[in-house]
Amino acid sequence: MALNTHWISIIYTDQFVHPMRSEQQTFGRKCREAEDIIKWVAGKYGAEAAFACSFGAEDMVLLDIIERVTEGGNTISAFTIDTGRLHPETYELMQLAANRYRQKIDIYFPESSGVEAMVSRFGINLFYTSVEKRKMCCRVRKVEPLKRALRGKKAWITGLRREQSQERADVVPVSQDRSSNLVKVCPLAEWTDDDVWSYITRHRVPFNPLHLSGFVSIGCQPCTRAVKPGEGSRSGRWWWEEGEKECGIHTSRL
Ligand code: SF4
Repeated sequence: MALNTHWISIIYTDQFVHPMRSEQQTFGRKCREAEDIIKWVAGKYGAEAAFACSFGAEDMVLLDIIERVTEGGNTISAFTIDTGRLHPETYELMQLAANRYRQKIDIYFPESSGVEAMVSRFGINLFYTSVEKRKMCCRVRKVEPLKRALRGKKAWITGLRREQSQERADVVPVSQDRSSNLVKVCPLAEWTDDDVWSYITRHRVPFNPLHLSGFVSIGCQPCTRAVKPGEGSRSGRWWWEEGEKECGIHTSRL
């Protein structure tokens, strides 16, 4: 028996949709929107759009989406920053991603003269001694290479999500970023943790095994640790500090 339009409208009214189906529809919509945003940015900016890949779970999702919707054609540019202090697992994932995906990811290193001067004056683990020294290290090892990587670009694609922290609660999918003067593109702005891990599972995306040991947000090895259930997703970053958990990449004037 064919369904009449009355029943069709009831079945597709939100309140009658089974919760599981509703979640799947929402997840499907978010995936399509993220794909559309990437297609749009690739079409509008091409290689003048740069995807900043940290190899965290969100960025692995974005890498996979970029590979699928741009057919791995390196339509946009992509880069990562090797601070010199990353976890061994992150380096292994970098190589795994290079083997699996056709999208080329350029690696930017900090200026050696800046690192040498900083370490010679303040020591190799200066970040533990004060917030100012920690921010100095982030500036030298992350923000300076980021500036070079974004030079000449018009759009900056990142895996920021609102759910990640209080500081990121206002993230929107596309905005004009005042600190960098670039169009900032955050296709996963609305995604939840569950969305990220659903995508990774469904598409068999490689991910950093540290996520399985309680590491949620993975940065440099000396500055990141696992978090306990219920702790904020960025509380494992610079755990010895109180307050804002940002390295300056998304908050400094670039
Ligand atoms: S996260 Fe730690 S090691 Fe990495 S750049 Fe910042 S202070 Fe330095």
